[in-house]
Amino acid sequence: CGIVGVVNHEDAARCILEGLQRLEYRGYDSAGIAIVGAQGKVSIARAEGKLSNLTGKLADAPLAGSTGVGHTRWATHGAPTEGNAHPHRAGRVSLVHNGIIENYKALRAELSAAGRSFASETDTEVVAQLLDRYLETGLDPRSAWLETLGRLEGAFALAAIIEGEDGLLLGARRGAPLVAATSETSGFLASDIMAITGEARTVIYLEDGDTVFVRPEGIEICAPSGEPVARPVNPAPASM
Ligand code: GLU
Repeated sequence: CGIVGVVNHEDAARCILEGLQRLEYRGYDSAGIAIVGAQGKVSIARAEGKLSNLTGKLADAPLAGSTGVGHTRWATHGAPTEGNAHPHRAGRVSLVHNGIIENYKALRAELSAAGRSFASETDTEVVAQLLDRYLETGLDPRSAWLETLGRLEGAFALAAIIEGEDGLLLGARRGAPLVAATSETSGFLASDIMAITGEARTVIYLEDGDTVFVRPEGIEICAPSGEPVARPVNPAPASM
């Protein structure tokens, strides 16, 4: 339902939580956040119900780090439980997803046959598992992400982080909204620019089919083939 991601931010968890709060009006049943912390390790916090349940957990056990992704979920596949809340983790990958992966059953069968075990009932988890498997075969994050996206059918938006890759956000827009944005120091992904209004200075409204890599140095956008594409960079709307 709602996606927020950030790289190179002084307090990624706070930035993501504030972003999710701005998307709360859209409705959701659970929420979660994953942060790449010290030594590149990823930590995740998830909670059923209101965002205040998640903020409560984070107040007890803060997640420090400069890169991360967060999500408010509107369940389509799997009950609205903490275990089905995003981010979904597989090995080095933590991933959030809006929309539906239509061919998740076939992918889940393929990955299970390859020895992977699943922790949730969602369609989303196959994407995290696929990306982790491609990374395991030795592909770099960019190639692994393009391979993963090439296997997916459906209408969706995705954002992911990889353990050990502080300063990298992977994204894709395939039939569900996603924007990429920058400030002087940080890069962002969001399902709605409203989530990062006040933080972002420039925004790129991604087009359908765009794959995106957000790094502190800037935003790279490419076609499903990996061919670079250019998109207009707009001034971000001022905060309301
Ligand atoms: N299909 C995914 C799920 O049920 C994502 C739902 C959403 O868009 O929030 O977990």
